[in-house]
Amino acid sequence: MILTITSLIRTFLSTEEIKQIEKTFFKLSNWANFSNNVSILTCDSLEELAQKTKVPSLPAWVIATNQGTCVFLLKPTHWPKKKEYSVTQICIHELTHVIINNAIQNCPLWLNEGLACFYANQISTIINNNTLTINPYNATYDNGLYSISGKTIWLLMKKYGEAFILNRIKSSSNIRTDDILGYNALNNLIK
Ligand SMILES: [Zn+2]
Repeated sequence: MILTITSLIRTFLSTEEIKQIEKTFFKLSNWANFSNNVSILTCDSLEELAQKTKVPSLPAWVIATNQGTCVFLLKPTHWPKKKEYSVTQICIHELTHVIINNAIQNCPLWLNEGLACFYANQISTIINNNTLTINPYNATYDNGLYSISGKTIWLLMKKYGEAFILNRIKSSSNIRTDDILGYNALNNLIK
């Protein structure tokens, strides 16, 4: 499988950062037995981003998304001035979604976002304590989905270890009713 990062995007990345993106991509691809070629491409506007991903419109805060085996980034020069995350983090976040969307059937939204935030190293900025206040299955983009999902994955990885959780995701016959990843199990994490 080949990961293509366009030369325009490469101008925003150091050699180390490209290596970091590739390392995470190949690690997760191996885990998910995902073997398709993936491309990271850019768009000039939010409208083009919406068009490419075939959604009617995207919220103004969106700077990247994915469709099939492509990641689409809004050109980093068009990102909001106060950048919350690096180009590397956004690339890894979206690549994680591409792999999960293609390899894990019917993945719960929180798990998809939680893993994307975890591997993109976006967890440190959203975790300020060890407690969970909402079941991530009830979280939406409007009520803190990213931070709740990221924190849930972080708590699970800390408790059981990364290898165990990854294996569990792959082997569970129904994630939503799983003894560790399911709705009821996650209720027990709420304090
Ligand atoms: Zn995401």
